[in-house]
Amino acid sequence: MPQIKIAVIGAGMAGLKAASTLHQVGMEVTVFEKSRGLGGRLASRRTDFGHFNHGAQYVTARNPGFDAYLQQATEHKSARNWRPNLHRGAPENGIITPARDNAAPQTQLEQTAHTSTEGNLAIDHWFQGAPQMNKLIHPLLASFDIKKQHRITEIEPSGPRHFMLHDDLEGTFGPFDGVIVSSPAPQTYDLLHPLSARFDPIADVVMAPCWAVMVAFEQPLPTAFDAMLYPSPEISWAARSSQHDDAFHTRTPDPWVLHATPQWSRDHLEDDKDQVIEKLLAALRTASGVKLPELHSVNAHRWRYARTEVPLGKSYLSGMNGRVIAAGDWCLGARVETAWRSGQTAAHALMETLIG
Ligand SMILES: Cc1cc2nc3c(=O)[nH]c(=O)nc-3n(C[C@H](O)[C@H](O)[C@H](O)COP(=O)(O)OP(=O)(O)OC[C@H]3O[C@@H](n4cnc5c(N)ncnc54)[C@H](O)[C@@H]3O)c2cc1C
Repeated sequence: MPQIKIAVIGAGMAGLKAASTLHQVGMEVTVFEKSRGLGGRLASRRTDFGHFNHGAQYVTARNPGFDAYLQQATEHKSARNWRPNLHRGAPENGIITPARDNAAPQTQLEQTAHTSTEGNLAIDHWFQGAPQMNKLIHPLLASFDIKKQHRITEIEPSGPRHFMLHDDLEGTFGPFDGVIVSSPAPQTYDLLHPLSARFDPIADVVMAPCWAVMVAFEQPLPTAFDAMLYPSPEISWAARSSQHDDAFHTRTPDPWVLHATPQWSRDHLEDDKDQVIEKLLAALRTASGVKLPELHSVNAHRWRYARTEVPLGKSYLSGMNGRVIAAGDWCLGARVETAWRSGQTAAHALMETLIG
């Protein structure tokens, strides 16, 4: 039997889960990734004092298959349990985060964050990539070909059963027997809607943007928390970009990642980075009620498509007689786990078409 050749577009969790599943059954898989790094929104930026995780912050497993994956990744030391001291605010009122030096908790709110088992129950099941988020994909990497810095711009049918891929550097690849596209929904729609009306439902998926600020303070931020959910009306999440074995409160520079809320990110989508940094640091200052320590470094990243607000509602979408498949977190939700599940079911659907 001739070798079955598959192209996977996107090297995030969904694309790599699909690629590794198809590689395991003996198909010849080539992954195309537009960026220099792997992991997609499982993103980490290296600095001279460690990594910032500026995309996904932690993962949870509700599905036994993904739970087993996290256990495997933990055994391989590419994941670890993460139990931050979490302060939960509320999106509608932007609760003020108590902040002071790193002494024992003083306010009732802080006491709760430190001692409540109820509040921390869910945290027992939080995982991060180790030492940084993008390592979470490591168990999926195998001896299939990954072409980095290749942005696919067109999928061209070549006869009834094959496809050629074109990239932004005028490269042409193929023929492939099947293609899985795992980019965020709007980018997947751009690639697939010229092929078939079966991909039209992707246009109804809604993904929200997110501005992320990566800030390192010269001195530890004076708060008892490592992570804050909705510390202010502008910020949905602020967390020490931790490395497991570090003593959080004594480490300097002290690296934090701030994520703006979807609405704030939409309202400021075209602002320049400096404006975004200034406004979100001001929001953090107001929320914490203290003078922020001097900045060691600061940067911002705009995620145009960060979190799914309206998903597709099924784990993949196929067209072209089942040979082209759209996958990604946005099929089922807004989490790393939904990306993994979508990648897995997309691979099985393609196997069903190609080998029955
Ligand atoms: C700020 C932020 C915070 C988040 N927080 C959490 C969290 O705490 N917990 C959680 O579970 N999830 C979180 N998420 C969501 C999580 O990151 C995603 O659900 C998951 O990583 C999506 O994986 P994916 O493979 O579907 O897509 P992606 O990770 O987006 O991968 C798609 C890949 O396709 C590539 N690509 C796109 N177009 C092309 C092209 N034309 N050619 C080649 N390559 C292309 C991209 O570069 C990317 O690498 C967060 C996301 C963001 C942005």
